[in-house]
Amino acid sequence: MKVPLLDLKPQLAELRKEIIECVSNVIDSTHYIMGPEVTAFEREVADYSGAVHGIGVSSGTDALLVALMALDINRGDRVLTTPYSFFATMGVVLRLGAVPVFADIDPVSYNISPTHMADILQRDKKKKIKVMIPVHLYGQCADMGNILSLSEAYGVPVVEDAAQAIGSEMMLERSGKMTWQRAGSAGIAGCFSFFPSKNLGGIGDGGMVVTQDEVFAEKLKKLRNHGAHPKYYHSLVGGNFRLDPIQAAVLRIKLRHLEKWHQQRRCNADQYNTLFAGAGFGEDSEVSLPKAVYGEQAGSDKTINHHIYNQYVIRVRKRDELRKFLAEKNIGTEVYYPLALHQQECLAGILESGSLPQAEKAAAETLALPIYPGLTKAMQEYVVKCVRDFYR
Ligand SMILES: *Cc1c(COP(=O)(O)O)cnc(C)c1O
Repeated sequence: MKVPLLDLKPQLAELRKEIIECVSNVIDSTHYIMGPEVTAFEREVADYSGAVHGIGVSSGTDALLVALMALDINRGDRVLTTPYSFFATMGVVLRLGAVPVFADIDPVSYNISPTHMADILQRDKKKKIKVMIPVHLYGQCADMGNILSLSEAYGVPVVEDAAQAIGSEMMLERSGKMTWQRAGSAGIAGCFSFFPSKNLGGIGDGGMVVTQDEVFAEKLKKLRNHGAHPKYYHSLVGGNFRLDPIQAAVLRIKLRHLEKWHQQRRCNADQYNTLFAGAGFGEDSEVSLPKAVYGEQAGSDKTINHHIYNQYVIRVRKRDELRKFLAEKNIGTEVYYPLALHQQECLAGILESGSLPQAEKAAAETLALPIYPGLTKAMQEYVVKCVRDFYR
């Protein structure tokens, strides 16, 4: 049996006709920059994620970049973030001449630890930290309750890197009441990516920034288009960060199926959990299963996206050998990510960040298994059986 890490074909088969039709409509409209599809998609994503404004941009990376530009992040500023994420989270900081400061992660959720963040903010007597970027890794929200408290206490805004987490929900206090709120809606900006492998993926690159703040939204809109408003009058220096209307049109169709796909991923995760337990992988075994931290607090309410499983990531012994073994059995896996950000070569000589033991340990031990909608039960049984065979 062959089990790829990701297969977009089942999803495509379901929507192929509709997608081709909407692409051809955009072509025939001759409206190739911005326009009605982009505007409608911005409205729909803002509504879906519980934000007031959506600003479509060219990628998740540019969503982060333009959000930091709108906060006037500059040379020498510090940005507090996680060392365990895709490179873009740190890349945008470096491109602006700012310096990343890393707080280690929580070993269960793999998300940035508010305890470590608090230590770093406490030591930042000169107030050089201008913004913090938590990442909702693998599709599960970071501990935003505590992160927002720190934001308030230290007066440092939060940009959420929600590239892997559109629709994922977190429990937050709103006027004295605990409520579920979606990723991206809690910080000054929430950044989404529509890279094809994300839960909501286009047929190319795309991204969006969502925000609750009108003034901030206006600035983002300007920056996305060379800082111009009206046309040819440039009050700011921005860039060309516009979202392609073909991507917007396709993503609008896919957005209508997103909840169902989240549910399928969550079902697949439950299925893996059951199969791994059945194969004898319990506490303290060779394989540790992912935990939906918010889900455990709130019971197993299936109507809430505690975790959207953009990735189903296990922590294992002898990771690289297991990965090789699974590849020989035609099972696709991936390591997100084999190096923590502070270990990347491009930082050599720029940053002394000391050791971040939990991030380094995660980089050595994590392995993502296939979890996409369309994965069959037989495929999952085969994956778990092969993992079992490896440790036997
Ligand atoms: C995918 C991703 C990005 C970048 O998104 P692109 O659309 O590929 O530019 C940023 N941060 C995280 C955590 C991501 O997973």
